[in-house]
Amino acid sequence: METIQVTRSSMPSFEEYTEEIKDLWESHWLTNMGIKHKQLEEGLAEYLDNPNITLYTNGHLALEGAIAAFNLSGEVITTPFTFASTTHAIVRAGAEPVFCDINADDYTMDVSKIESLITDKTTAIVPVHVYGNICNFKEIERIAKKHNLKVIYDAAHAFGVTVDGLSVANMGDASMFSFHATKVFNTIEGGAVTFQDSTLRKTLNDLKNFGITGPETTEYVGGNAKMNEFQAAMGICNLRHVDEEIQKRKNVVERYVERLSNVPGISLLKPQKGVKNNYSYFPVLFDNYKENRNQITEKLKTQNIIARKYFYPLTSEFACYDGRFNVKDTPVAKYVSERVLTLPLYADLSLEDVDRICDIILDI
Ligand SMILES: *Cc1c(COP(=O)(O)O)cnc(C)c1O
Repeated sequence: METIQVTRSSMPSFEEYTEEIKDLWESHWLTNMGIKHKQLEEGLAEYLDNPNITLYTNGHLALEGAIAAFNLSGEVITTPFTFASTTHAIVRAGAEPVFCDINADDYTMDVSKIESLITDKTTAIVPVHVYGNICNFKEIERIAKKHNLKVIYDAAHAFGVTVDGLSVANMGDASMFSFHATKVFNTIEGGAVTFQDSTLRKTLNDLKNFGITGPETTEYVGGNAKMNEFQAAMGICNLRHVDEEIQKRKNVVERYVERLSNVPGISLLKPQKGVKNNYSYFPVLFDNYKENRNQITEKLKTQNIIARKYFYPLTSEFACYDGRFNVKDTPVAKYVSERVLTLPLYADLSLEDVDRICDIILDI
C-alpha cells in the first residue's frame, strides 16, 4: 500500500511551470529581485492585502530578517509550542526567549500570562498563529503598546487567513510567512515578511543582501536570504490555484470532523469566531482515549500512514537548550504536546483515505 505522508506539496502542472520559467532563458536573470520576484511580490501583496511585503529564500531567514530589522535584543516573549524556527531565530539573534504558556482551546499564546513575564529587558513579543489559529491579536497589541514592545508574528501556518475580514498580514509590527514545500502555499522553499511601517522595506531588503546599501557601501552585517526566480515562478503558478487548494483541504477537514467529532477521549479544535481558515493542519488531542497518542501514531505507521507529533517536544525541551528552560513554566503547552497528533492533510488526500485513517483510529 502506498504511504500516506502527513502532507504532500501542491504543484502546478509540469506544463504550467515550464511555461512560466521559459523566459528566464532569455533574460538570464536568475536571482536578486528579478522580474518573477517582482511579479510574485505584487501578487502576494494583493492576496495578503498588505503592500508592505518582501520575499525571502525561506521562512526562517524571513523571521531572522524581521528580528534583525527591529534590532531586537534582551528578552523576547514567545511560545514553546511551535516549530524549531521560532525559538532558534530569537536565540540566534542573541536575544533570550521567555516562554509564555498557551491556551487549551486554540493552542495560541495565553495572553493573560504575558504581562507577568515582562521585565525591563523585554523588547518584543513573538507569538505564533499555530495551525492557522489566530492569536488574540487585539490584546497582544494592547499589551505591546502599553509596554512599548514590538510584535512579530510567526504566521508560517496562517497564509491567507482573515479575521472579520482583516488579513493576518496586517497584525502586529510584522509577520513572517513560510512558503516551504509543506505549507498551504509554497515556492518550493520560500518565505516573506509583511510589515506596517513602509520605511522598513529598505532595511529588510538590505539585510537580506549582505547589508549592501549601495554600489560601494555596506552599512549592515547582513546575510543572504534572497528568493530566486525559479522559486518565484513556482509561487506565481501556485498562487493561481491556492484558493482551489484551500477548498479541497476544507473538504478533507470536514470529513475528519464528521468522523472524529463526539468521540470520548478525542478532542478537536473548534473553529475560531470570525476566522476564515486555511485548513493548514488537522491536530487531534488524544486525552484519555482508549489508546494514547504514541500508540495511535505507531498503529497508523504499521498501515503506512504517517501522522506527526506537531509539536512534540516543546522547543524549550530541545537538546540544544538542555538545562536552560523549565517546562513547568508552561504546563498547558506540555500537556498538549504530549497528547496532540496532526493527521495527514493535503488538497489531494482522498475522502476514502480519510475514512481509512479514521477507521484505524476508531478501531472499526
Ligand atoms: C515552517 C515553519 C517555519 C519555518 O519556515 P521555513 O520556510 O521552513 O524556513 C517557522 N515557523 C513555523 C511555525 C513553521 O511551521
